[in-house]
Amino acid sequence: MDLGGTGSSFKEVLESNLIFSDFETSKSKSEANYNSTFAKSRTYLDGKNGNHSKNGVYDLLECPVCKNLMYPPIHQCPNGHTLCSNCKIVVHNRCPTCHRDLGNIRCLALEKVAESMELPCRYHNLGCHDIFAYHTKLKHEQNCQFRPYNCPYAGSECSMMCDIPTLMTHLKEDHKVDIHDGFTFNHRYVKSNPHEVENATWMLTVFNCFGKHFCLHFEAFLLGTSPVYMAFLRFLGDEKEAKKFRYSLEVGANSRKLIWQGIPRSIRESHRKVRDSQDGLIIQRNLALYFSGGDKQQLKLRVTGRIWKEE
Ligand SMILES: [Zn+2]
Ligand SMILES: [Zn+2]
Ligand SMILES: [Zn+2]
Ligand SMILES: [Zn+2]
Repeated sequence: MDLGGTGSSFKEVLESNLIFSDFETSKSKSEANYNSTFAKSRTYLDGKNGNHSKNGVYDLLECPVCKNLMYPPIHQCPNGHTLCSNCKIVVHNRCPTCHRDLGNIRCLALEKVAESMELPCRYHNLGCHDIFAYHTKLKHEQNCQFRPYNCPYAGSECSMMCDIPTLMTHLKEDHKVDIHDGFTFNHRYVKSNPHEVENATWMLTVFNCFGKHFCLHFEAFLLGTSPVYMAFLRFLGDEKEAKKFRYSLEVGANSRKLIWQGIPRSIRESHRKVRDSQDGLIIQRNLALYFSGGDKQQLKLRVTGRIWKEE
């Protein structure tokens, strides 16, 4: 029996074979990309402090290899060329400027200068206007609410990092993601060979409601040794805001159903992390096939849901 096809919000979700890839690896790669992009737009920072002489110091503190700010320990070669401790390993202990052996010489003078400086957050161009002592800056930036988001699209190694509006354009144009207006949904997930499905990720769907964006994930994987399907919602924004929302998911047939109610997880948390924490609607394969009806040779699940704001 086909349950759908009449409601205007009904959406047939095409099966896709996107194989789940390792998300954590691509994340660190994209972080590096972002760092080098950002380094080029840095001059603005010093203008803001109104101190011209700092410009030169700032340049001195830029690692010639990775273009990031150097934090103690700062290293130098016997000729005085400096570089950061990460890059010292990357260049195999050989000075990238004069090719001499780096040895283990610290540049204490520059370390002292670094420690005395106050600098704006590196995400100033994304809206953060705070100023930090040099050594607290790094810590702040790791948790800065304005730091860019990773692309939430699972199943591809996407290195995009940006703010939410840019991310929405990216999802629409580069991943051809479906965007829906409204806070209720009714989706059908179809797979013709459910017994082969392990580590499959369906096309992401994004919902626009309450002036925010949410993405619905659906995928198959092995939970221990049991094949399961899992649906969960993530919020395109930070954790604090995500907690203001709730969502419910329902799946069923033949007068039986499973209901899940939860809090959307921020896309700050990786897709893999949310999946592994099992924070979503989990359907055992046998039950999923029962809900699919027919001869159990095809997965045909209808997932309905709702998003609301918790007062
Ligand atoms: Zn470096
Ligand atoms: Zn050198
Ligand atoms: Zn910041
Ligand atoms: Zn992407």
